[in-house]
Amino acid sequence: MTRLQEFTAAISKIDHATDPATLRLKSRDFFWFSPVLKPQLEDCRAEIVVRPVNVEGVMQVASAAARLRLPVTIRGGGTGNYGQAVPLEGGIVLDMGGLDRVLEVAPAVGTFEAGATMLEIDKALAPDGQELRFYPSTRKQATIGGFVAGGAAGAGSCTWGQLADPGAVLAVQVVTVEEEPRLITLEGPDVLKVLHAYGINGIIVSVTVPLAPAHPWAERLLAFPDLERAAAFGQAFTEADGIAKKLVSVFDPRIPPRLGRLGKAVPEGRAAAIVMVSEPQARALEDLARGFDGEVVFARSAADATRAAFEGKGALAPLYEYTWNHTTLHALKRDPSITYLQLRFPPEGNLAAVSRIAARFGDEVLMHLEFQRRFGRVTCSALPLVTFTTEPRLREIITEIEALGAQVSDPHSYVLNNAGWKRVDAPQPEFKRHADPHALLNPGKLVG
Ligand code: FAD
Repeated sequence: MTRLQEFTAAISKIDHATDPATLRLKSRDFFWFSPVLKPQLEDCRAEIVVRPVNVEGVMQVASAAARLRLPVTIRGGGTGNYGQAVPLEGGIVLDMGGLDRVLEVAPAVGTFEAGATMLEIDKALAPDGQELRFYPSTRKQATIGGFVAGGAAGAGSCTWGQLADPGAVLAVQVVTVEEEPRLITLEGPDVLKVLHAYGINGIIVSVTVPLAPAHPWAERLLAFPDLERAAAFGQAFTEADGIAKKLVSVFDPRIPPRLGRLGKAVPEGRAAAIVMVSEPQARALEDLARGFDGEVVFARSAADATRAAFEGKGALAPLYEYTWNHTTLHALKRDPSITYLQLRFPPEGNLAAVSRIAARFGDEVLMHLEFQRRFGRVTCSALPLVTFTTEPRLREIITEIEALGAQVSDPHSYVLNNAGWKRVDAPQPEFKRHADPHALLNPGKLVG
């Protein structure tokens, strides 16, 4: 019997698949956004996909994998951009989608199984008048465990900050990969042991996060004369603490034509901003935008925006699905030579650095900004659209951008050590020795 056959026998009561179509589907994520990663990861395949529905099932998989020394790559929604969920050494893909229950909700706090999608969580919270503080633009597919293990920020970060901010994740429960797996609860700063660790440090089975009071989020698309004024509006609006907001995204004038039907609402040559604002305060937003020569070119009520998000109803997708890395997705659909970068700006002088970078590259780098709070300060990050020619040119652009005042987190590497937005002080290598003593989890992602 091969080790794989022994494993299959040990987990035979748990849903699993070995057919080529499922193996291909569940061995991929959105690494193909990167022309550098695409050829490196395209042919990687798991040998089996297992989908438990409870913690006992996860422990059974972990125990058999440890005994047989088979690699395990954990998978949530499979929406990561850096090949985080791609099995580099075959073995098992552990699909967490079966653990999707809401475990407990109280005022201002909720505990969810790791495989629950962010959209389903928000649907469950809505009757209670609560919501997740922030979610990635992949809200529909992304799981809360995958977000904690592979994501950073999203819609809501303009108010509530990022995953790395203290208090953003209150607790996680983790199953270790050992012959006798343990269930470990990490709370407070210990959460950093698994935060943005690409699933190398244990299998997250539940996540506890603070919740926010739900607002009726109305959507607005605004046009501005140029990027500078749109960016200055983004900064001022994010700093306007009196206005409740969920999303502040700003686009170079050359980006709206790449956003399909929505983009057509922006007059040619104008910069744009997409915002989600608490409906009773939409007027205050519009007054503020006028101070930057901004005008509303598309508006959707909170009721219609919620229908679009919760029920998929309406002519347009929810507007957050045009922001964050969805902007890149829309552009890529229309022009396969496009790729992107991830930039972070220090709060001091962020807008000046944005202008310097925008002026430097002409049509090669188009600025797309996401305004947010980070450790209490308002700043922006950018996911600029980059016309890809060669990898050496891409590296040159990165070096130049860093010299112009932004920090680049390289999205063209699957190696965890290169993930520049990570908290470098996180005690992850130490915890790995406890949670994954045989080094079976997501091998190849952590170097050294
Ligand atoms: P997966 O891709 O399945 O996994 C991500 C990583 O976490 C992998 O390394 C995996 O092994 C690990 N993992 C998954 N589940 C677990 C678990 N239970 N225990 C331990 N490890 C686990 N990211 C943002 O932060 N903000 C955005 O706004 C955003 N927008 C995006 C837009 C597009 C169009 C795309 C393609 C991606 C975007 N992303 C964004 C990246 C990604 O969607 C998010 O990070 C998302 O939260 C990942 O969740 P997932 O369930 O799909 O994780």
